[in-house]
Amino acid sequence: MGSYSPSINRYDEMKYNHCGQSGLKLSTISLGLWHNFGSVDDFDNARAMIRHAFDLGITHFDLANNYGPNPGSAEENFGKILKRDFSSYRDELVVSTKAGYLMWPGPYGDWGSRKYLIASLDQSLCRMGLEYVDIFYHHRPDLETPLEETMSALNQIVRSGKALYVGISNYPPELTIKASKILRSLGTPCLIHQAKYSMFNRWIEEALLKVVNNEGIGCIAFSPLAQGLLTDRYLHGIPSDSRAAKPTGFLKVEEVSEEKISKVRRLNEIAQQRKQTMAQMALAWVLRHPEMASVLIGASRIAQIDDAMKTLKNLSFSSEELKSIDGILNE
Ligand code: NDP
Repeated sequence: MGSYSPSINRYDEMKYNHCGQSGLKLSTISLGLWHNFGSVDDFDNARAMIRHAFDLGITHFDLANNYGPNPGSAEENFGKILKRDFSSYRDELVVSTKAGYLMWPGPYGDWGSRKYLIASLDQSLCRMGLEYVDIFYHHRPDLETPLEETMSALNQIVRSGKALYVGISNYPPELTIKASKILRSLGTPCLIHQAKYSMFNRWIEEALLKVVNNEGIGCIAFSPLAQGLLTDRYLHGIPSDSRAAKPTGFLKVEEVSEEKISKVRRLNEIAQQRKQTMAQMALAWVLRHPEMASVLIGASRIAQIDDAMKTLKNLSFSSEELKSIDGILNE
């Protein structure tokens, strides 16, 4: 693969949104490296996707210590891509990583202690060849560690210059309020909450969206396409190159149920009336909340990033459309 000069038009089409009440803007579409960027994957394809995303104005790339497989290898590959292609563009990127799931054996490689978070971020920076990340997340709640300890570790990380902002992921509403208050009292406001949200998983609508709004925290939705279910990928069976078919994929074949796919078929009819693909309508639907600073997609090929990008052409819904979508989802 040859040398890379980013497109000079890269900021023409993308929209950027303030993340909560912070000064940081995120690209409306962000790219996650959970699947397809590990040591088991095709490095040239991974590199081509990152380059292409940046050419389209995608500035935010999301990682975690354990992304791979093997765990850590997505960060390593991303580090190689940064070094080869993006060494002059670090200040145009928002790179995030996380710790909170099992990363190394023993009592210090999991959950939410200060010991784990600080060591894990040091390892992540080393793998990516970076001096700092833009956003560091606690990846999931740890009910056995005092919340004050976890939040003060996040504060310490910002003070030490290893992250510019901090966030939380998978925290329920009440714990989000507590975490946010602790962080604010320490002088390091919580930037962002990364939450699972899609047409097939609406848990944040009940309380979390209101909480983040009140706290001035931005929200970013992960798995907005339900790992590919909310696209045209599975309308005619399970393709052999799809996430559901791959041994390393987190989408299990049983989750591609006839019940879900028949809903997707009907949702797809609404998408077609809106002159959108199914994926575009699913992403626009997630973005209809003002709290949603960005949608965090995954991709296995460049064409999927192009597809997501065209979502920006139609982000609005009529109340009839929303009602019809609810009707299908609530059946
Ligand atoms: P999505 O719901 O966007 O699923 C992505 C998958 O859907 C792709 O890999 C591809 O699968 C398929 N797909 C994407 N676009 C299209 C398209 N236009 N047409 C057809 N198929 C498409 O998100 P992910 O589940 O990948 O999650 C996104 C990111 O969120 C992760 O990379 C990670 O950064 C973050 N995340 C965070 C978590 C947390 O706990 N904080 C947990 C999980 C994810 P295929 O391989 O079949 O082509």
